[in-house]
Amino acid sequence: MSAPKLLQRSLWIAAAALTLGGAGLLLATRQQAGQSSVDVLGQLFAQDLQSTVRRAQVQGSAAPLPPPHPRWRSPLQRSCALSADAALRDRLTQRLQQLQRSKATVAIDPSNYGERFERDAFGNRINPTPRLVVLHETVYGIGSAINTFVTPHPNDIDQVSYHALIGLDGAVVQVLDPLRRAFGAGNSAFDGEWVITNAAFKGSVNNFALHVSLETPLDGENDASWHSGYTAAQYDALAALLSDWMRRFRIAPERITTHAHVDLGGERSDPRSFDWPALQLRLEALGLLCR
Ligand SMILES: [Zn+2]
Repeated sequence: MSAPKLLQRSLWIAAAALTLGGAGLLLATRQQAGQSSVDVLGQLFAQDLQSTVRRAQVQGSAAPLPPPHPRWRSPLQRSCALSADAALRDRLTQRLQQLQRSKATVAIDPSNYGERFERDAFGNRINPTPRLVVLHETVYGIGSAINTFVTPHPNDIDQVSYHALIGLDGAVVQVLDPLRRAFGAGNSAFDGEWVITNAAFKGSVNNFALHVSLETPLDGENDASWHSGYTAAQYDALAALLSDWMRRFRIAPERITTHAHVDLGGERSDPRSFDWPALQLRLEALGLLCR
């Protein structure tokens, strides 16, 4: 062995002896204080684990969870009564074909929507596939909603969009490609899930949601808790649109919810006066409520 190697080995042995000596001293001190060496090793392991967790938090892999909120209890019932109303099924099938052939679209301002994120603000991988439908109402006319979407909004707080709008006459306006991220809900969560895409803000369902808004009837242009409701043509169009989304993205009926439910700020109550049995009837006729 050469002289430098001998020196290197001596230094290594000295360092090892110091380390072992230190650990032995620590064990002896703890044992004097009445602790067994197993306790001490357990504590050392726990401290190590804690520091690993702290390191992970500093690196940001632990995203905050939403505050506790009620679970969604879907008003839609599973049913396979396909032959219940053949005329309704034919009407809705035609409506769906019509929707797939020609959808009215508007070019909304890019400040009002975004792309679906594949990582959250903390660097965690997230699933960007749409897997929740949120129902809304426009409160004012459909023209007013479209006007808002085509207007540039430099401030985050004003940016808003849905994927689709359904007019009182049943016309469907495609506002945004379902693969993009609409800004339909602010502070929101669904069954314990939200996504934080900007650490300066609370989380929302937008990254995994599809938003559709029904035009409010004239007697609902206010903040009352109810109005006269939506038209049969709107429920037909909604069922056709949902059929398209549910099949395309494999969304279960239990994951069709409302803005009022996902909102964590307690400010939203839309869509008011929504007739769930009217939607049940139509989804059932389309065979979308079978298990
Ligand atoms: Zn809403």
